[in-house]
Amino acid sequence: MKFNTKTIHAGVHADEATGAVMTPIYQTSTYKQTAPGEHKGFEYSRTQNPTRAQLEASIAALENAKFGLCFASGMAAIDAVAKLLKPGEEIVATNDLYGGTYRIFTKIFEPLGIRTRFVDMADLDETRSAINRNTRLLWTETPTNPLMKIIDIEACSAIAKENGLLLCVDNTFASPYLQQPMSQGADIVMHSVTKYINGHSDVVMGALALNDPELNERLAFIQNSCGAVPGPQDSFLTLRGIKTLHLRMQRHSENGRVIAEYLKAHPKVDKVYWPGFEDHPNHEVAKRQMKDFGGMISFTLKGDRMEDSVKLISSTKLFTLAESLGGVESLCGHPASMTHASIPKEERMKAGLSDSLIRLSVGIEDAEDLIADLEQAIG
Ligand SMILES: *Cc1c(COP(=O)(O)O)cnc(C)c1O
Repeated sequence: MKFNTKTIHAGVHADEATGAVMTPIYQTSTYKQTAPGEHKGFEYSRTQNPTRAQLEASIAALENAKFGLCFASGMAAIDAVAKLLKPGEEIVATNDLYGGTYRIFTKIFEPLGIRTRFVDMADLDETRSAINRNTRLLWTETPTNPLMKIIDIEACSAIAKENGLLLCVDNTFASPYLQQPMSQGADIVMHSVTKYINGHSDVVMGALALNDPELNERLAFIQNSCGAVPGPQDSFLTLRGIKTLHLRMQRHSENGRVIAEYLKAHPKVDKVYWPGFEDHPNHEVAKRQMKDFGGMISFTLKGDRMEDSVKLISSTKLFTLAESLGGVESLCGHPASMTHASIPKEERMKAGLSDSLIRLSVGIEDAEDLIADLEQAIG
């Protein structure tokens, strides 16, 4: 089955009891047993729920994976992966990454004895040199947030295999439409489903996709034991969102290109970070591993003054100033004070994340209207 067909059909089936074409919302915590231990595969909704099960199968199919596991948030999915490690073991992670990932690794797992070394993962030698005999997990995100660097997944997979490590790719920014890391050697793909997969800014959820049955068993054990699972209503909304994932991503990418080119030509704009530009430092890798370049764009203004950026993002009318990304509506944000405020300034600067940087999540509106909005806001 090809991707667009999968968004409609994969993992879901008409309801056996009623023939309902759309997956019903099984709003139940428990299931009737005919005798102790005799049931239809469902015992308790923390462990299994039919609405969630269809969503998990759908996400697995979209990622070309055998297994899918859904969580109450993207952070809960990251938490589950980090819990595969024992005290004394280490993570090597890319340094340009989601602020919450930095926070959970440094503030939650480091005190538990699981240390993370942050490297520029576009630099393969630097990545190799951070690996030691305690390293178990290579964690990457591509495109990176917010600088839109592209990490070579195949190259990371080769490093992981050389060293017997698991490779987990946070695929939130690309969505499975643009890139399927399992096909490039990832062991686990992680999503904040909150973003493009659900796509309508009305659900918070996370997911993992993977192939290895033993690893799936361990992660399903963590999912059930720790209990950060999504409810059936959110699972239903996400199944509904997935049905237009391909259409949304096509438009996000088309609009992304138009806006990126507009910004690049603007006299008041300094740098534009978007992997579709031929002069983007990782453009060749992006072309190889992504189907298109998406709608996430970051840029700075000439003069690099924080107050100019704050004024700009406070005066847009269609671009809503808000955290998050990947919804049908355009959003703008200021990473240094919003999504990445939990990363110390010193670390932010090391990663090249300047105080005037603005991040756009370009929605699926008419590009002309979005440009007119930016035009009046840039002034
Ligand atoms: C939002 C986000 C997360 C965290 O997901 P939540 O659903 O907000 O918990 C992780 N990684 C990336 C890249 C994100 O954008």
